Amino acid sequence: MAVWNPWRGCHKKSEGCANCYIHRANARKGINTDIIYKTDEFYKPIEKDKKGNYKIKSGQMVFVCFNSDFFIEEADSWRKEAWEMMKLRNDLHFLFLTKRIERFEIGLPDDYLDGYDNVTICSTIENTLRAKERLSIFKELPIKHKMITIQPMLERIDIAEYLDESVECVVVGGESGSNVRPLSYDWVLDIREQCMNKNVSFEFRQLGSIFMKDGTTYKVQRQNLCAQARKAGINYKAV
Ligand code: SF4
Repeated sequence: MAVWNPWRGCHKKSEGCANCYIHRANARKGINTDIIYKTDEFYKPIEKDKKGNYKIKSGQMVFVCFNSDFFIEEADSWRKEAWEMMKLRNDLHFLFLTKRIERFEIGLPDDYLDGYDNVTICSTIENTLRAKERLSIFKELPIKHKMITIQPMLERIDIAEYLDESVECVVVGGESGSNVRPLSYDWVLDIREQCMNKNVSFEFRQLGSIFMKDGTTYKVQRQNLCAQARKAGINYKAV
């Protein structure tokens, strides 16, 4: 596993961004997250060592832009080159999440056509408004590997009309930290059922720090959020 942050910084975009962990972490260090800049690891995927071998070894999953959004406006003129590096390193698999799927076409290389086999794009949503807005676009896009991330899940959401065999997995989770919005287990189970009905894989990634189940509201410690979700044992693998 490798991480590649070709640029850093992000602007809050929608309801799910209210407690963005990047903004919170940067604020503690006195960094202004709204300043977007190209990093000195921009060319990381194609960097080589003294022997001429790629520094990122073949066969790895590379998590991209986990301190930004791949489609952020300020990166429009940088993005084509980033795509080209991903195409060149077809021995790696790249994955990124975005809340800006409507900007997908900006900076796309001419040879992209029906997509790159080694790139997974996760469209992130948080409520019904954003599901309708983003997933209706996502559904039509030429992307070889698609995932939907619902995190932080803020309400019950019906995504059934956007689920088909092109969606490899739906990931659900709550919000972590203090003063966060609650996650209801009923909403999670409802998404799971929608996925099972459409034979789409489902993963319950993490509880929320405030978690409601069977009429009781719990405060969950951060270190237990993922473990408790796994313990629920409700993940579903498409057959
Ligand atoms: S889009 Fe993602 S990285 Fe950007 S502010 Fe929102 S939650 Fe944070």
